[in-house]
Amino acid sequence: MSENKYHFETLALHAGQTIDATQSRGVPVYRTSSYLFKSTEHAANLFALKELGNIYTRLMNPTTDVLEQRVTQLEGGAASVALASGTAAIFNAIITLAEAGDEIVSANNLYGGTYTQFDAILPKLGINVKFVDHKDPLNFERAITDKTKALFIETIGNPVLDYTDVKAIADVAHRNGLPLIVDATFTTPYLLKTIDLGADIVINSLTKWLGGHGSGLGGIITDAGRFNWKGGRHPLFTEPDSNYHGLRWAIDLPEPLAPIAFALRVRTVPLRNLGASISPDNSWIFIQGIETLPLRMIRHSENALKVAEHLSQHPEVAWVRYPGLKNDPSYTLASKDLKNGFGGMVVFGVKGGYEAAVKIIDNIKLFSHLANVGDAKSLILHPASTSHSQLSAEQQLQSGLSPDLIRLSIGLEHSDDLIEALNEVLQPVESQKEGWLSKLIKK
Ligand SMILES: *Cc1c(COP(=O)(O)O)cnc(C)c1O
Repeated sequence: MSENKYHFETLALHAGQTIDATQSRGVPVYRTSSYLFKSTEHAANLFALKELGNIYTRLMNPTTDVLEQRVTQLEGGAASVALASGTAAIFNAIITLAEAGDEIVSANNLYGGTYTQFDAILPKLGINVKFVDHKDPLNFERAITDKTKALFIETIGNPVLDYTDVKAIADVAHRNGLPLIVDATFTTPYLLKTIDLGADIVINSLTKWLGGHGSGLGGIITDAGRFNWKGGRHPLFTEPDSNYHGLRWAIDLPEPLAPIAFALRVRTVPLRNLGASISPDNSWIFIQGIETLPLRMIRHSENALKVAEHLSQHPEVAWVRYPGLKNDPSYTLASKDLKNGFGGMVVFGVKGGYEAAVKIIDNIKLFSHLANVGDAKSLILHPASTSHSQLSAEQQLQSGLSPDLIRLSIGLEHSDDLIEALNEVLQPVESQKEGWLSKLIKK
């Protein structure tokens, strides 16, 4: 049975590992910076990409290689490159296909850090990002110009968890000769195979559900291996590259490497020369996390649905967004694509607005107040005063972020305990104050 016939659960445990001379069952951590060349000819071949092999850990590492191969198989792609963080993965993906004077068209409902990277940093490097409302795929088409190099979306966007129609936007990208980059962090390959829907380049922040335990930073780029870089829009792939011996990435690579030109350029140009490398220890942590990804995503999704259903009945809750709620604006679209669950994120608004939201966060038990998602433990955040506070009030509202919004990353605790913790802080302010008295009277 060949590896790619195995089911997701099996690949999550086995893909990418070749048992080495030590017979170690666990994937060994190779804490090394560099690798011996067998001869000068071997060294020359490695540098010329005539032969693939280890040179230096900034570029590749045997532990990281297992992680990369595993994610490649889970995503159904052709090659992956792991980096120091999800943020670095996004930046390195963009500068692999765009340079000063170029444009990217992006959904506007992005992770806060990505929004700032696109809105404030890329333009300073001459790469202009046009933001559009993802809800109408034609908005992307209208924003495309001769300078556009790629479209960018997230599968489930911040902050209101709108599900994005990946397939429709992939169609727009492809009929315009452009690749679609999808940040799939919120769905992971277990909930959604974005490459099946047309994604050409997939980004996952390993920090979140793939790692799953809030214990390290990492990101990974997966190249689907089928975008035609020779369509005329990507001179970085068809003109001689001064960053790599004048190689024309889409033209000169030998056959087995030709389909993964993008992943190879990520590795040998920005990763090699800018150095946002992942540590092999972190790669090991993520390999360990991925082993249980399917089990965890099922429980995250079940718990999140129960919490969302409970909140939507609660008298102190103004509104709830969860793509798995039958009356959610995203449900129809999301339920077509997401067959294994709707993920671990729930957002809601409290009656009483900003003040009430802040109070809840200061008083809630069990939920950890911090700026992360995808931990095994449940997390809570008030984006308006934290992760999205960099945005102007107008930008916040444009991306759907209201002052009353509370974001939950639902963990793997028992759902009854999570619901109880929410109930405790969702009481009207008066009854919280008078709690001891009313309890006394009831007795
Ligand atoms: C966390 C996150 C990122 C950034 O990943 P880091 O590993 O924190 O750099 C990007 N996109 C999404 C959707 C995220 O949740």
